[in-house]
Amino acid sequence: MKQRVTLIPGDGIGPELAIAARRVVEATGAPIEWDVQEAGAEVMEKYGTPLPASVLESIRRNRVALKGPITTPIGTGFRSVNVALRQELDLYACVRPCKLYPGVRSRYDQVDLVLIRENTEDLYAGVEFEAGSPQAEQIRSWAPDKIHPGAAISIKPISAAASRRIIRFAFEYALAHGRHKVTAVAKANIMKYTDGLFFRVGEEVAREYEGRVEYEERLVDNMCMQLVQKPEQYDVLVLPNLYGDILSDLAAGLVGGLGVAAGANIGDEMAVFEPTHGSAPKYKGLNKANPTALILSAVLMLRHLRYYTEADRLEKAVAAVIREGRFVTYDLKERRDDPTAVGTQEMATAIIDKLGELS
Ligand code: NAD
Repeated sequence: MKQRVTLIPGDGIGPELAIAARRVVEATGAPIEWDVQEAGAEVMEKYGTPLPASVLESIRRNRVALKGPITTPIGTGFRSVNVALRQELDLYACVRPCKLYPGVRSRYDQVDLVLIRENTEDLYAGVEFEAGSPQAEQIRSWAPDKIHPGAAISIKPISAAASRRIIRFAFEYALAHGRHKVTAVAKANIMKYTDGLFFRVGEEVAREYEGRVEYEERLVDNMCMQLVQKPEQYDVLVLPNLYGDILSDLAAGLVGGLGVAAGANIGDEMAVFEPTHGSAPKYKGLNKANPTALILSAVLMLRHLRYYTEADRLEKAVAAVIREGRFVTYDLKERRDDPTAVGTQEMATAIIDKLGELS
C-alpha cells in the first residue's frame, strides 16, 4: 500500500524545489502518494488566508508532510505560516542535522552535529505589546525602574513541561542515532528564571540517561564562539526556540550554507519535513536555487517512514553529486558566478542518474 504524504510546495522558490524533490523521491522507488496542498503568500487571494484549513486537515490525516518554504507576509495580521503550523500541530521539536558533505565549500574538515530546537514557546509565543499600548504601560508599572517609558514588550514564557519534553526528545534522539553527548544551550546567568529553568530541567532529565548519554551546558554566547572555533566537539545541541533559530543558521553556515541545510518539525503524532532556508524571493522562478536542503529533508522523511534503504541510497546519491561538483547549483561552486553551475532541475536529474548507478 502506498504511503500518503502531504506535499506543500510553498511559495517563492518552494514550488520549483518541490518538483525537484518529488522527482528524486519517486526515483528511489519509495511507495509514496503525494497529497499536494497549497499554502503561502500566493494563495492569500484565493482562500483569504495563507494557511487554509484543508492544509492542516491533510497533515492531520496523513501524519507526515514535506514542505517547501513559505514567505511571512509583512504588515498583515498573520504572523507566520511556518510558526502557525508548528504550533497548531504541536510539532514541538525542530531537528536540524548539520553534516559536512565532502565537496561543499566550508572552512571546516569535519562537522556532524544535530541541533534540536524547542518549537512552541519562548519569545515565539507571540505575546507582544506595542509601544505605548495600555498593556505595555501596565506591564511597565510592575517594574518601572527596569523598563523604559514607552517600551514595546515581548514576553518569554519557558515552562518545565515544554523544556522537559524537548530535552528528553534530544536524549532519545541521541540514543536512537548512536550519538554520545547532549549539550543544553541557554543564557541562564542573565535570565535566571526562564533559562535557569531550562538548565534545571536539563540536569534532571540528564540523570535519567546517566552512563548512556553525556550531558553538558553552555551559555549561548559562548556556544556561538565554540561552534565557530571547534564544531567537531559537539554532537547533539538542545535549545529553547529563539536561540535554536539563530544557532540553526550559524550551524548551517558551518556546513556550506542554507542551500544544504535540512530540517524536520516533529511532534508525538505528526511530522513536517522542511529545509532551514526561506522562500528566497529573488530567485523565484529562475531554476537557480539549490534543491539539496529540501531533498535532504526528504531523506529525513524517508527514514521517519522507515524506508531506510531508499533514504540511504538517496543520501549517498546527493553526497556523490556534491562530491563530484559538476552538476551542482551556483552556491556549491568555488565561485558563485561560475558559468558551469547547473539549475535546480538539472541538479535533481544528476541525483536521479546517480541513484540509477547506485542501484
Ligand atoms: P532565505 O533563506 O529565503 O534567503 C536568504 C538567502 O539565502 C537567499 O537570498 C539566497 O542567497 C540564499 N538561499 C536560500 N535558500 C537557498 C537555496 N535553496 N539555494 C541557494 N541559495 C539559497 O531568507 P530570507 O530572505 O530571510 O527570507 C525570505 C522569506 O522566507 C521571508 O518571508 C521569511 O519569513 C521566509 N522564511 C520561511 C521559512 C520557512 O518556510 N520555514 C524559513 C525562513 C524564512
